[in-house]
Amino acid sequence: MISQNIYKIKKIIGPKKLIIVSKKRSHDEILDAYNTGHRDFGENKVQELIKKYEKLPKDIKWHMIGHLQKNKVKYIIPFIHLIHSVDSIELLNKINTISEKEKKITNCLIQIKIAQEQSKFGMTKSNLEVIKNNMNKFPFVKIKGLMGMATASSSEKQIKNEFDYLNKIYLNSTNFKILCMGMSQDYKIANKCGSNMFRIGSYVFK
Ligand SMILES: *Cc1c(COP(=O)(O)O)cnc(C)c1O
Repeated sequence: MISQNIYKIKKIIGPKKLIIVSKKRSHDEILDAYNTGHRDFGENKVQELIKKYEKLPKDIKWHMIGHLQKNKVKYIIPFIHLIHSVDSIELLNKINTISEKEKKITNCLIQIKIAQEQSKFGMTKSNLEVIKNNMNKFPFVKIKGLMGMATASSSEKQIKNEFDYLNKIYLNSTNFKILCMGMSQDYKIANKCGSNMFRIGSYVFK
């Protein structure tokens, strides 16, 4: 049951933030989680996110967690709570431009590539340095912290190394408040490695 699964996760992560990943889940499944009192949900596709935003209760805080194309930024800026997946400086620039048009400040995380898979997105540590040194160029964006996805690996040691690497970058970044790492498979490792926000889908809805 959804409420029991959420309870089990919270017993491990305590007061740290849980984002329930609702991609591919029906409105009824999401409402089951909503009815436990949960309000933070994550989606990885813009079209699906917009449909759910329109149909589901308006007090849901929507998180964009998947790769975001620049031409789709305009559709989500008016309502998005946090964009986790800022994986290029060009994308950050686009988010800043559209946010200015919408007269709002958009909360973002910088996604850092820590996994080995080619298919995974994210910036390098040196890209992040460039951003940190040019914050004044993005006045309509608030960078709250970092996000990363570990390699889908059976090696706990490898996952831990990747999370430790990101935690080190996080700890060296004054002003950042959010370190978002950990999914169903690896959230317990992420928790030990300093994560304070988790994106969990399949474990919640299993
Ligand atoms: C799907 C997804 C998750 C959640 O994965 P689960 O294994 O279902 O917990 C987390 N983060 C991102 C970026 C995702 O796309």
